[in-house]
Amino acid sequence: MNRLEQLRSQLVGEGLDALLVSGCENLNYLSGFTGSAGFLLISPTRAILATDFRYIEQAKVQAPLFEVTEVRGEPHQWLPGLVAKVGSDALGFEARDITVAAYRKIEAALVREEVGLKLVPTEGLVEPLRAVKEYEEVKLITNAAALADAALAHARKIVRPGMTETALAWEIEKCLREGGSSVPPFDLIVASGPNGALPHARPSERTLSNGEPVVIDIGARVGGYASDLTRTLCMGEPDGRFRELYDLVLNAQLVALSGIRSGMTGEQADSLARGIIQDAGYGHAFGHGLGHGVGLATHEDPRLGPGASQELQTDMVFTVEPGVYIPGWGGIRIEDMALLTASGPRPLTHCPK
Ligand code: ZN
Ligand code: ZN
Repeated sequence: MNRLEQLRSQLVGEGLDALLVSGCENLNYLSGFTGSAGFLLISPTRAILATDFRYIEQAKVQAPLFEVTEVRGEPHQWLPGLVAKVGSDALGFEARDITVAAYRKIEAALVREEVGLKLVPTEGLVEPLRAVKEYEEVKLITNAAALADAALAHARKIVRPGMTETALAWEIEKCLREGGSSVPPFDLIVASGPNGALPHARPSERTLSNGEPVVIDIGARVGGYASDLTRTLCMGEPDGRFRELYDLVLNAQLVALSGIRSGMTGEQADSLARGIIQDAGYGHAFGHGLGHGVGLATHEDPRLGPGASQELQTDMVFTVEPGVYIPGWGGIRIEDMALLTASGPRPLTHCPK
């Protein structure tokens, strides 16, 4: 079944006769269209891509399975007319993506134009399809992972005390782009010393010094697909705390990487690593989930963390990234990406740890 057919088979169960797709990764996944403005209207028999004049030619080339139609203005201005063509009575829309303001305008337009259409908020119709990767997707992710590996190896080679975080981040970004990455999927992180205690720190003008942890979290993008890799380095002699915490986080990561199996929930996978960090007395310092799916988006399904009830399945790609963060001192995070196979996670990043 192709992606469109898989989605259509779900609409019936949701009581919908059409779905408006507006989330840009979902739109890209279903249609192939990569423009930054567009909507899909999908019914059992029609698949329409609505976009403005800037993207019409691109849409025709990228989305051959869709009828491309040119629209002007905001959805409330053209959606009632388009829905009338498709003949929908219950139209789903993506609740995570349509703003309350846009929703109100659409609702008002439907009333004004006397279109008897029920708008139904939906969540998680396309995302579960995206979570399970096809062969071609895994190939692109593997390429993006290899670029991140290479950029991290480069960072290791050139990092020197006295360098600023921003200078190192820029060297890494250049390496990624020269290696073939498009714009990196997220702002690269180089966080030294106390800055590393912030899991999503921004590179600053702080200079790197011997003996302190440097968290480097980077990713490449190839063919639309992201990678995500973190290593924590220490130049010179690490102190006792660095050694202790590094070994703890690494052990937690290795246990998770060898113990995760399909059929586990995201919470069960998370607990493999969390249990080890908790037993060492650092549970409070591991304040984020163990990992997340990676694909067209850097953070997507599945989620691996406390409360994550989604079951992991083979052919999902996700990160395994335990960390501990000590305010005033710094952080240790070790992150790899893996493809879940029948025998467990197969790492896609291979940078030495
Ligand atoms: Zn990361
Ligand atoms: Zn990550």
